[in-house]
Formats: sequence, C-alpha cells, structure tokens
Amino acid sequence: MRASAFHLSTTKEAPNDAEIISHQYMMRSGMIRKLAGGIYSYMPLGLRVIRKVEAIVRQEMNDAGALELLMPVVQPAELWVESGRWEQYGPELLRVKDRNGRDFVLQPTSEEVITDIARNEIQSWRQLPVNFYHIQTKFRDERRPRFGIMRGREFTMKDAYSFDRNIAGAQESYRIMFDAYQRIFSRVGLMFRAVSADTGSIGGSQSHEFQVIADIGEDLIVYDPNSDYAANIELAVAPCLIAQRAEPVHTMNKVHTPGVKTCESLATFLSLPLSQTVKSIVVVTEPADQPVEVHLLMIRGDHELNEVKLGKLPGFEIGFRLANEDEILNHFGATPGSLGPVGLTHKQAGATQPARIIADLTVANMHDFVVGANETDFHLQGVNWLRDLPEANLIADIRNVVEGDQAPSGKGTLSIQRGIEVGHVFYLGTKYSKALNATFLDETGKPALMEMGCYGIGVTRIVGAAIEQSHDARGIIWPRAIAPFEVVVCALGWGKSEAVREASLALYNRLVADGVDVILDDRDQRPGVMFAEWELIGVPLRVTIGDRGLAQGQFEIVHRANGETLLVNTDDAYTQVLEELNQMTA
Ligand code: ATP
Ligand code: MG
Repeated sequence: MRASAFHLSTTKEAPNDAEIISHQYMMRSGMIRKLAGGIYSYMPLGLRVIRKVEAIVRQEMNDAGALELLMPVVQPAELWVESGRWEQYGPELLRVKDRNGRDFVLQPTSEEVITDIARNEIQSWRQLPVNFYHIQTKFRDERRPRFGIMRGREFTMKDAYSFDRNIAGAQESYRIMFDAYQRIFSRVGLMFRAVSADTGSIGGSQSHEFQVIADIGEDLIVYDPNSDYAANIELAVAPCLIAQRAEPVHTMNKVHTPGVKTCESLATFLSLPLSQTVKSIVVVTEPADQPVEVHLLMIRGDHELNEVKLGKLPGFEIGFRLANEDEILNHFGATPGSLGPVGLTHKQAGATQPARIIADLTVANMHDFVVGANETDFHLQGVNWLRDLPEANLIADIRNVVEGDQAPSGKGTLSIQRGIEVGHVFYLGTKYSKALNATFLDETGKPALMEMGCYGIGVTRIVGAAIEQSHDARGIIWPRAIAPFEVVVCALGWGKSEAVREASLALYNRLVADGVDVILDDRDQRPGVMFAEWELIGVPLRVTIGDRGLAQGQFEIVHRANGETLLVNTDDAYTQVLEELNQMTA
C-alpha cells in the first residue's frame, strides 16, 4: 500500500465525547468516524485492524472444529416470543416493524436463530456434537453507549453455539472453546484473565468471562493472588467477616444526630469506625397480580449492595428496584436517611406488620452496631440482634467483595482489579433447546433435548481494549498481530530524490513479496509531521530512508514500542526488518 493512495486522516484533537484514551486515539488516528450515538463507521485504517482480529478469531475457531455460517441481522419476533426473550429482554432489544406490521428485531445475539436452525437441521445423535459460529453485526440499544466502539450500540461480535448429546459432551465443547479463547486473546497480544461470571440475561448455569486488565474497565474482577480463583465481582463470594456473633456490650440508646444521613457522616459524627454502622436499603419487588412487596436490606456501612446476588434470592428473580423516597415514607413512615430495622413496621392496605428484613452474612453476626432510629435526625447505638430486634427473615451474601476479604481457598486475601470484558463463554444446558423444542434422536431412538453452549467475543471491543493496554503519550502501540500495517517505510524527500525513490521502492517491493504488511509513505511530507502521524497510528516498525542515510549506505529502523533505533546497511535492511518483526511476541 502506498500512503498516497490510502486514506489517512489524522487529527491533533479528539472530540469532546471521547473520554478515554482508546476512543481518543481511534478518532485521532482516523480509524473510526461517528455516525450517531454508539454507531460508528469503520474507516479503512480501523477496518484493517478489525479484519486482523477477525482473522485470528476465525482461524482459532476453525482449528477448534467450529463451523462458520452467517445468520441474518434482522430476525423475526416469533422466535424471540418462543424463547420468552421478546418479553424479557427490555429496551436493549431494538424492535422494528416491516411494511406489513410484522415485528422483527435487530439481533443483539443469536441463540434463537441458531436453535431454530439446529432443530430443523439436526435429527440424529450422529450429527452431534456440532459448533456453529458467525462473525456478524450486533445491535444493542445500550442505556449508555460510550467509549467509542468498546460499548457501541452497533458492534461486531463473534458468537458460537455448541450442540451436544449430553452434559458431558457439552462440558467438553465448553472446554474446547475456553482453550480456543485463551489462544485467541494471547495471539491478539492482550493481557487478560479468565474469570467466573454471572450468566445474566442469556441464562444457563456456568460461565467465564475473559477480561482484559485495564484501569478504565467497567467490570471489577476479584482474584486470589495465591490461587487460580478469579471471579467477576457480580459473582465473587463475599465471606462473613465475623466468625461468631458476640454478646452485647452496651445498652441500646438513641442519639441525636442532626443532619446526619449517611453511614460515613454517622461514623465521623460518633467517632466510630464505619464498620460499626449498618445501612438500610429498601427494595421493591412487584409480583404479578399482587401488591408490591418492600424489603429492608442491611449492609455494613463500609460495604456495598451486590444487585446480582440479591437478584438470585427467592422472590427477587422476578426483578426488583430501589424504593423511592415516597414509597419508603408510605410503607415505613420514615425518611431514607433515618431508616433502621429496630421496631420497623410495614403498613400496607391498612394492616401493619413487622418489616421483612434481609441481612448480609456479616451484618447478621455484628453486635453493638449503629442504625437509623426511624426518626429524622436520630440514630440508635449499641443495637444487638435478638435483644433489640428479631433475627432477620433472611441472611444471605448480598454484598460486594472488598479488597482484603479472605480468599475462598482460606489462604491469603482477595485483590480487585478492573477489566474490560472481551469474551464470554456460557454453558446453557437446555434453556433454549427446551423453549424451542430442539430435539434429536439418541442412540436408543428416543428424542432428547440438545445440550447447548454459547461463546461470544467482542471483535470491535478487542480493538479498543488493545489500545487501552498499549499506548503512550504519542499514540497507539499496536501488537504486531493486529497492527493496521506492520511496517511503514518513510521515504524522506520522495519528490526530489531519485535515489530515495529507488531505495524505498526496492525495500517496499521485497517486503510486499514476502507477505509483510507494509505501507510506503510517499507523500513527501516533512519528517517530523510524518513520524508523528505514524506514531499516533502506532505502526510497530518504521524504516526511514533519506539522502543523508543513503550517503552512508544506511537505513534507520525504529521500534514504535520503545523507540529503539538501529542503523543498518542498505543491503541488510530487508533481513533486519524481518528479524525485528519476528522477534515481536504478538
Ligand atoms: P457487557 O456486560 O459489557 O454489556 P455482555 O455481558 O452484555 O457485555 P455478551 O452478551 O456476553 O456481553 O456479549 C459477548 C461479547 O460481546 C462481550 O464479551 C463483549 O466483548 C461484546 N459486547 C457486548 N456488548 C457490547 C457493546 N455494547 N459494544 C461492543 N462490544 C460489546
Ligand atoms: Mg451488555
């Protein structure tokens, strides 16, 4: 590729909505252009990177025995009704009507369509196992699209779906995909961690996320530095921090706490550790055809509610929401900042009952703690279970792990870091095959449900994640495997020097012939401008050819990653470039 024939359009400034480095550099280097919120055009430069990621994904998927097909972006609503997700999915699912008023969706994922294919195509156990995948555009009407193509509304995903005769087979398919993912993310050149994860709206019972370690990551990953335990914080088990509940020390007393509304200010006001306070959170569930239910959750002052864990408790699977101020006042007769569990009653439809209380494991073993007094500007100190309030209705792990919590192995403590989820593998079981009745005839001739797994990779998100992990103040530093070009040959004085033109073309042609992805910068720009542009774009290796070097019989080779510079004889330049490239690990 000649730069004069390519579309390069770099800028000095990034748009204001580009909050993070990868988004800024993708915009500044001209990889993507915004069309609408969360919707981007992949420009020639960006598409080169995306295609390289896709090629690695495709090759590893094929090598793992998966079969590529391509399913439509537009899918009929009927299949989504059949699976139940037409109702469940919520506003992220973009629904459209055709000219006849029939409902369709833009696919956010393809479980329904692939299961429909499987039920039509697969009749016998002899056709199993099989794993189908595609690399296709997805649409999710994200609540908060941001970070460019890392959390876009339209994006590219590789999604694979395995079908097996039994659970053991499905587990083997899962393992094969898990291993393929390790290879894919290593080849792309990412630092990542595979973590146990929640199964979310896709459903199923076992899953791992592949998380790229980065400070801007939206996920929190909990890991044990001394074992291979790693889990998304949504799932990570938070232990009870108090082995046994101690006897009360103080009598309960009411303290005047003017203006104090949070546990932090309460702890400061009373000169107590935050860990002696307990916050009360009210959530509402709305069972069908029944009055709403309100629940008081108790979490230690220095802890946070984990909504995913709460959502798995009995009665909460239907979904829940935080109560608003009016609801708290109406049901409990107290304001949120003064709410507490002692003597709390719940008024509904004229009847008064004790409030339903759910305590976190740690809170359930506390003694002499501080809570709201259900009276504005007052709190209760020295509160103790059984003496001052009855045992909670339910005691469960409903908080997030915090740094320093004991590791499940019992050895050492847990650490937390941020991650960008780039891949996700799920064991689905028969969730979709049951809903869509995807059966096959087993060895005994009896119909059986197919055991399924599904496996996603955010192709476009990988591009952003790679930049987050590898950049400096001047721009992107691509791993060789996914760089838009592996080498740039910068010809200084192209227009006026025959010698430069000849030498540059000679090297360029040899590299092209050898399959190196090289671009020749023949645009005749000033060296400073040219170098800055290629540093922003992040090409791993730059070869500079100019009259001054040629007079010494030398080219200059510069590594983008560390600025390492080599002067090589013109005759050796070709082999040296190949050697430098081959030394790169990814
Ligand atoms: P997230 O929690 O980040 O929303 P998810 O759990 O919804 O992700 P999956 O349904 O498992 O994601 O999708 C598979 C992969 O697709 C994810 O691992 C991620 O890499 C990618 N992906 C998901 N949503 C987006 C998005 N809005 N933009 C770009 N890539 C995405
Ligand atoms: Mg999502």
